[in-house]
Amino acid sequence: MTVKAILSDKGRKIVTIEPTASLNAALHLLAQHGIGALLILGPDRRIAGIISERDIVRALAERGAHVLDEPVGQVMTRKVVACNESETVAGVMERMTEGKFRHVPVVDQGRLVGIVSIGDMVKYRLQEMERESAALRDYIQTA
Ligand code: AMP
Repeated sequence: MTVKAILSDKGRKIVTIEPTASLNAALHLLAQHGIGALLILGPDRRIAGIISERDIVRALAERGAHVLDEPVGQVMTRKVVACNESETVAGVMERMTEGKFRHVPVVDQGRLVGIVSIGDMVKYRLQEMERESAALRDYIQTA
């Protein structure tokens, strides 16, 4: 099962923010959309970074509330791990576990086409497991 199935189900909406926007603006966007991370795009629409709620919590804990006025570009993670639509859900979940992050942008030939979170992956895997066990139950009952 591939990442494409998840994107087809959940959609391809991506919430982004400018690197010059403040952390306070990032917090509001996260809350408004009920999500855990925002992507930062360069002028060429390629991924320049990612900022998650954890980055903001860490910055607040280390430097205090005034960091909320600082630009997102100073706090974001620049080395972003991405995947493509043809990758398996299991493979991407493994990469998330190894890298200890919960969001992965999906790219197609360098172009951003979606984002998946660990929540999307778990939801999908549960549905898949339920389908498999229902098929097994049917098989046993008809055998
Ligand atoms: P998360 O678990 O997604 O809230 O992110 C935990 C940490 O990993 C934060 O420092 C994020 O900026 C970073 N991060 C999140 N997603 C990615 C990703 N796809 N590639 C690299 N770093 C990431």
